[in-house]
Amino acid sequence: MRTARYGITDIFTRGIIARRIVILFTLAAFLPTLILAVLSFSQVRDVLVDQSQERLAHTNRTYAMTVYGRLLLAHEHLRQITLGKEQDLLPSSSILQYSHQIFSSMALARSDGQARILYGKAVSLPVIHPDERAHLLKGESMLLVVRNSGHLPDLLLVQLADATQPDSPLLTARLDPLWLWGGPDSFPYMTGFCVFSEHNHLLFCSTPDHPAGMIESASQAASAGHASDAMTEDHIIRHWQLFLKPKFQHEHWTVFAFQPVLMALAPIGHFTEIFIAVAVLTLLLAVLLSISQIRRTMGPLEKLIQGTRHIAGENFGYKVEIASKDEFGQLADSFNDMTDRLSRHRNALQALSRIDQAILTRQNRDTVIAIVFDRIRQTNDAGLAGMTILEEAGAREAKACVCDEQGTGNIETTRILLSAEDIAVVSASPAGFWLENRDNPVSWLTTPVSKEIRRRDLPVFVLPVFYHTNLYAVMWLVLPDRHRLAGEILAHLQQLGNRTGVALSAAARDELLIYQARHDDLTGLPNRFLFKERLLQEVVFARRQDHGFALLFIDLDRFKVINDSFGHSAGDALLIEAAQRLQQCVQNDDLVARLGGDEFAIILTGTGDPDHVIPVAREIVRALSNPFLAGEKHSHISASIGITMYPIDGTDGEELLKKADTAMYRAKDEGRNQFIFFEENMNTAAITRTTLERDLRQALSNKEFTLHYQPKMDARTGRVCGAEALLRWHHPVRGLVSPATFIPVAEEIGLIKQIGLEIIQDACKQLTIWQQAGLHLPRLAINVSGSQFRDGELVREIGEIITLAGVSARSLEIEVTETLFVDKTCRATIMLNQLRSMGMLVAIDDFGTGYSSMSYLKHLPVDVLKIDKSFVDEVVTDKESGLIVQAIITLAHTLGKTVVAEGIEKADQLAFLRQAECDIIQGYFFSRPLPPEQFLRFSREHGVSTAQPVRRSA
Ligand code: C2E
Ligand code: CA
Ligand code: CA
Repeated sequence: MRTARYGITDIFTRGIIARRIVILFTLAAFLPTLILAVLSFSQVRDVLVDQSQERLAHTNRTYAMTVYGRLLLAHEHLRQITLGKEQDLLPSSSILQYSHQIFSSMALARSDGQARILYGKAVSLPVIHPDERAHLLKGESMLLVVRNSGHLPDLLLVQLADATQPDSPLLTARLDPLWLWGGPDSFPYMTGFCVFSEHNHLLFCSTPDHPAGMIESASQAASAGHASDAMTEDHIIRHWQLFLKPKFQHEHWTVFAFQPVLMALAPIGHFTEIFIAVAVLTLLLAVLLSISQIRRTMGPLEKLIQGTRHIAGENFGYKVEIASKDEFGQLADSFNDMTDRLSRHRNALQALSRIDQAILTRQNRDTVIAIVFDRIRQTNDAGLAGMTILEEAGAREAKACVCDEQGTGNIETTRILLSAEDIAVVSASPAGFWLENRDNPVSWLTTPVSKEIRRRDLPVFVLPVFYHTNLYAVMWLVLPDRHRLAGEILAHLQQLGNRTGVALSAAARDELLIYQARHDDLTGLPNRFLFKERLLQEVVFARRQDHGFALLFIDLDRFKVINDSFGHSAGDALLIEAAQRLQQCVQNDDLVARLGGDEFAIILTGTGDPDHVIPVAREIVRALSNPFLAGEKHSHISASIGITMYPIDGTDGEELLKKADTAMYRAKDEGRNQFIFFEENMNTAAITRTTLERDLRQALSNKEFTLHYQPKMDARTGRVCGAEALLRWHHPVRGLVSPATFIPVAEEIGLIKQIGLEIIQDACKQLTIWQQAGLHLPRLAINVSGSQFRDGELVREIGEIITLAGVSARSLEIEVTETLFVDKTCRATIMLNQLRSMGMLVAIDDFGTGYSSMSYLKHLPVDVLKIDKSFVDEVVTDKESGLIVQAIITLAHTLGKTVVAEGIEKADQLAFLRQAECDIIQGYFFSRPLPPEQFLRFSREHGVSTAQPVRRSA
């Protein structure tokens, strides 16, 4: 990590605080300096201006006094000239010589207007008023301002040449401006003077460009009350009034002195330079100081920030290292302290949340144990620790798990038995306790662990794990000293114990639920779910080991009959017994499962050879054909088994199961009580069958069924005496499908009831249509399959249909097969009798193929026997068949029943049957089953009997 050294660039690019500190430091140093500078600047400026004004006033006054002094001197000089001379005398040359310095010209003017120029240019003499003359008569001088052609006026000093004589001539002398005002050298540096007369006429100015507005500002200042203050933008101005009236009989003059302000402020320039230097120095100092301060502050701060980032990134191992002993050092210490605690807390919480997760995701006990050990290792720095888990709550059988001290995460497990006393002792301290007497062995520790604990002689903490009041486990830790488990850590451990209790109880409950979900309640065998799982595993295993296995699909034959006749509890008992027998037929490694109902399946592992499977299958068939005790009686069932071999018949579990199912059906079809290995051609049959089922369901709604009618002929007259309605299915793709194919399917999938009712409806409708067409058919036979009798509704439904169609029950005949009478308690007999009492006839179809014995015939509720085609076929060729047919006819007649022979194709068959006195003949010899219109035509051609040749029971 980069150590934080702050340079100036860093300050402005990175730290907000750093930037703030520099700015504040700089402001703190610079602002007072600046304010001080501004204040002192204005103060100093004021003082300087004041001082300059003072000085200037003084200079001005001195100057004005000097000018006044010179005027006095000029007066004295003139006085000397006038005193020492006769009125017409010329002044002595020595005096005059001096006069040249003071006056630029001098003349003597008499009262008659005559003037004598003593030297210099002529001067125009003013008129002297009498009061002025009075002043002159006192020997005083008079000052006169006389305009001339120049821009400054002449200044004349006038005296009476003889002051005792009122009409004495006037000595007029023009003052030399240079003498009076002084030359440029005599003025102070940068200081100018201007003199104005009373009427503001400029008398003199030391510079040609005196400050404008001087007089105005002076007069303004005067009117404002400060007589001597005046200042323009760039000049300081002072004025002084020179009163000339008493001495020179002249209005006052105003003397102005002025100086540029800059000159007054000259010292400030120096001050500014110093100020700038000081400001720069201050700035530098502020920056330097702040950088040094920032370095001291920001470095640790940066480290602390890094620290918090590490925490945010969940890296609790990071330590903030700050060497200094100041607040930052203390902060770092407490920060590290806090990180430690957070880390511990987080680990504890993590462990708890992992347990919670294990609870929620329904993990097994081993996962929970692994999490707990992980946490214990963290708490106890890989010390010796473990947990003894009871087989179930309150049980004494337990599993002692010991945590590996090397920290590999391995857990050593031993089965042990707890003593009741130990369970009581542990249960008495739910909050945990220290194992006081370590020499006394406890049953929840294995002997090696007990020895190890004794050898180490360290304190052992024991924590029972409960859920509610049930003890699930005992947790224990060997610690270096008892203080290790102080406060917070002990609380964490107890919390861990509580949560572990919840997890273990949940796991136990789940394990039970899982067991229940995967096993059959009744037989305790694995159910379909577990079977499929195991099948999948077996496939994977067999593939890896490169060997085969066999799958047996077993279905009990005629189990339904047992269930229906003896009740469900008998059926259940039989299933349990069957399951036991199946298990006895296989090895331990093989799997027997109940897939549902009377279906079982077996996985025979480790063999891909059918020769090994056959004996087992044979044994199963044998075992299941042995009588079962159902209720109080022994009853017989059998089993049909379909067998598939991995990998010959398939490499996928589902596929194997499906094919075994197909083979099982084949075994059933071929007479039950046997096993059959799957062959590929069965599969196509099975596929045809499933599509047939699907199409059959659609056939009803698509109205793909019609009825054909096969004529029945009176054997003696050869006329039509009835018909048999035979169902036809016009399949959209396959064309005409034989009822022999689809009727059994319709029976199996439960469609026959609906189809059967529609047949009866259609047949009745057809009867009325024929009647309207003039065909009065004595009787129409309708085939009703055995399953239609299963719900008790049939009689009512037929009754409703014929009433609705307006057909007499006497014109209908019901054909049923012998299988209907297998179950002797069956209510079919009752139902058939009900139909007979309505006027219908009942015929036994395919007579002779079933197992009903001739002797039994008289008890059956039937009126007609239909001798099966198989007998008719051989009636001429096979003598025995001929005898049987003859016997049947004779017997039937004895019992008062009518006999129909069906499937007559040849004339000699007809001849035989006629001779044997068979009543009615049906077969291709006369006609195939016909559509209604063709049947009508056939009847018209052959004539119709008025009644069926029916016999009645004696
Ligand atoms: P089944 O009741 O024994 O019907 C007689 C069958 O023999 C009919 O076949 C008929 O066409 C045929 N047959 C009649 N005379 C001759 C002949 O001289 N030579 C030959 N080779 N055959 C002859 P189909 O129509 O194919 O019916 C087959 C079976 O389907 C029927 O046997 C019956 O069990 C069942 N079935 C037909 N229609 C219905 C029906 O509407 N309802 C029910 N439940 N079953 C029906
Ligand atoms: Ca029939
Ligand atoms: Ca038949």
